[in-house]
Amino acid sequence: MKISCDIISDLLPLYHDGVCNEASRKLVEEHLAECDTCRAMLAKLNDNRIDNRIIHEREDVVQHHAKAVKRKSLVVGTIIASILMIPVLTTFIVNLATAGALDWFFIVITSLMVFASLTVVPLVVEKNKGIWTLGSFTGSLLLLFLTINIFNSQSWFFIATIPTIFGLSIIFAPYVIKKLPLTGFASRHKGLLTMAVNTILLYATIIVSGLFTDGSAEFWRVSLLITSACILFPWALFLVIRYVRANKLVRAGICVLISGVFVAFVEDIVMWAIYGAWQSIFTSANLFDWEVHMISANVNLLVLLTGVAVGSALVAIGLSRKSKN
Ligand SMILES: [Zn+2]
Repeated sequence: MKISCDIISDLLPLYHDGVCNEASRKLVEEHLAECDTCRAMLAKLNDNRIDNRIIHEREDVVQHHAKAVKRKSLVVGTIIASILMIPVLTTFIVNLATAGALDWFFIVITSLMVFASLTVVPLVVEKNKGIWTLGSFTGSLLLLFLTINIFNSQSWFFIATIPTIFGLSIIFAPYVIKKLPLTGFASRHKGLLTMAVNTILLYATIIVSGLFTDGSAEFWRVSLLITSACILFPWALFLVIRYVRANKLVRAGICVLISGVFVAFVEDIVMWAIYGAWQSIFTSANLFDWEVHMISANVNLLVLLTGVAVGSALVAIGLSRKSKN
């Protein structure tokens, strides 16, 4: 009896997996001995099995490697932590023996905590390494500030702490807030939250500086005026980029316009805050006269004109594209 390739192709997967009965196996083998097409089909099934095996083995190797790396990091982290225990123990004993109590020991241990936050923590923590490292670094650094302050009976703790947090926040707040498990309004406006946090920290930095230096009324007026005027610039750009519902060209145009106006007038604003009188630098601008004392006013005028021209052009192009669409 001659069996068709169709029947054999149905049986082949079973034959390949070794689960067909004896009679079928014989049939298939007899057919395979005479048919090149079905032999090729069987070879293909075998290839697939090899491919799968290779994929499995590769996954195993990757998993094994990841586990090995994790184990190694844990070992290295533990070794560093143990080494750090040497100065902790020796300074503990020496401090107790010489002073009869612990005082400068706390500075040693908090310094070592700062070091450990950047070395041990990223090695031993498994999930959210970035957040844990950053958090433990910030925490231990502030603790170090505090212990030095207390040890020396000084009062610069806040003037060191707030600007430090502000500086770290400018760089890391977007990353930290992105990782936070927020819900509702906050989860949809993480950019806004980041801007708000940084704005509050900027004002906190100004306020703590004023308090630390016993700022005069003049200090408060000038610093708060200039800060408030300048913070409007990044806020305006942020709000346009994030919330204006228009195409990219229109938003880019508005941002160029805002930048041109801000850069051109910021000098005037600062002068007004300091001297209390508004005297625009543009009144002395003259693009046909480039003597040294004219350069600043002329550059500001050019920045303004360029910003307005380029910004308006971009907005116009963006709007015309939109209406075409
Ligand atoms: Zn066949």
